[in-house]
Amino acid sequence: MNTSTPSALVQQPRHVEAQITGRPTRDGAGVRLTRVLTGDLQQRLDPFLMLDNFASDDPKDYGAGFPDHPHRGFETVTYMIAGRMRHADSQGGQGLLQNGGVQWMTAGRGLVHSEMPEQEEGRMEGFQLWLNLSSHQKMCTPGYRDIQSEDIPELTTPEGVLVRVIAGTSYGVHGAMHRPASQYPTDPLYLDLHFSGEHSFSQPLPAQHNAFVYVYRGQLDVQGAQHAASVPVQRMAILANEGDGVVLRGQAGTRALLIAGQPLHEPIAQYGPFVMNTREELIQAVHDFQSGTFGR
Ligand code: MN
Repeated sequence: MNTSTPSALVQQPRHVEAQITGRPTRDGAGVRLTRVLTGDLQQRLDPFLMLDNFASDDPKDYGAGFPDHPHRGFETVTYMIAGRMRHADSQGGQGLLQNGGVQWMTAGRGLVHSEMPEQEEGRMEGFQLWLNLSSHQKMCTPGYRDIQSEDIPELTTPEGVLVRVIAGTSYGVHGAMHRPASQYPTDPLYLDLHFSGEHSFSQPLPAQHNAFVYVYRGQLDVQGAQHAASVPVQRMAILANEGDGVVLRGQAGTRALLIAGQPLHEPIAQYGPFVMNTREELIQAVHDFQSGTFGR
């Protein structure tokens, strides 16, 4: 098959605007991770604020976990590929996140929580994505959803690509998180794609939505209107805002996340785990946290 042939679903595919190699770092109590979406990309990839990838077989890299810490003003979406993580929050909620499951946490006006590995050996692998909330949602009531792996809708495309639909809609299948765009204007798409052979995958996308792909197994080609770009493992490809969608071509064993959303076009003010619109709101967040009013 000629890979330059547009698919029926997408006539004018987006090309790769830039490829990003993540930055190795540590966070929490010393968890080793790769920060793929860093602060300098927050404007470009609005409404996404951060993407971390953690992957290790060594408990020294993950065992310390993320003890009690606050959040305000956005959402964290944790996708566990392998391993078990226990979360507990200041509202008394808790849950176990494991193999293929997702925790979708809405920090809203604020909570304090911990995210701790519940394993002393073996592999720990997954992602945490930070998704911004619009100014009128930032102080909403905090909450979270634990989505077990079996509750994530899956489909297999006619070409044979397995699609796990965490959020948004693909091939008519609604994701585990499916919320009214009137309330959540970022309208996020979060797909995990598993290729079992040399197959193409097409996803229509509005040109104004910011989008990126992160390859976590194998290698992927992103088909642009003129030519394809090869994206190696552990690389993020930022997709240009153009055309009517995305066409990806993987190989047997390729796995990749495709993430997209409608930008908020609001000022982003961040101080560590607080993301608001203004400096004054950040000062208020620090004050509220220090006076112990979070999560009450
Ligand atoms: Mn957290």
